[in-house]
This record gives sequence, structure tokens and C-alpha cells, in this order.
Amino acid sequence: MIKYKKVRRQVEEIDKIQCNKCGNSCLINGHLYGLSVIVSGGYDSIHLNDLTDYKFELCEECLVKLFGEFTIPPDLIKHYCEKSISWKWKNE
Ligand SMILES: [Zn+2]
Repeated sequence: MIKYKKVRRQVEEIDKIQCNKCGNSCLINGHLYGLSVIVSGGYDSIHLNDLTDYKFELCEECLVKLFGEFTIPPDLIKHYCEKSISWKWKNE
């Protein structure tokens, strides 16, 4: 027989996520909308510090603006769609 007891626990939940570029919130209904990454500068990195991690978040708006600056546009992979599509501004 297993008996259960009630306990109180303190949990951490995300309070806010701010875009490192514009400072706006990356949260919509408690979910991240945008990018949250850790990029590592490897040994002998030329532009990033050696063996250093860079953690940052970008909101969707800043992410789309960044995509627009790419020389080679990002590949788009649509969920539930087998045909390939190419990059374009959302409102084009
Ligand atoms: Zn932003």
C-alpha cells in the first residue's frame, strides 16, 4: 500500500523574457515567441571570445528583421507541408 502526503513546494516559472535587441517581451500567453539560444565561441574563434557562451533571446519582430538582412535567406520548413517554400516577408 502506498500512502501519499501533501507537501508544499516552491517552483520557478518564467516571469518574463525580454528581447536582447529591442527590449520588448518575447512572451505571448506564457510561451516564448522568438528565439532563445546559446551560441558558443569555439577554440580559436575569430569573432567570438574563445570558449565563451553567448545566451540571448530575440523577439519574432527582431528575428524577421534579421532574416531580411541575410545575404542567403533562411530555409523555411513548413509543418504539415511537403513542398518547399522560399523566404519572403510575411505580408508579401
Ligand atoms: Zn526584439
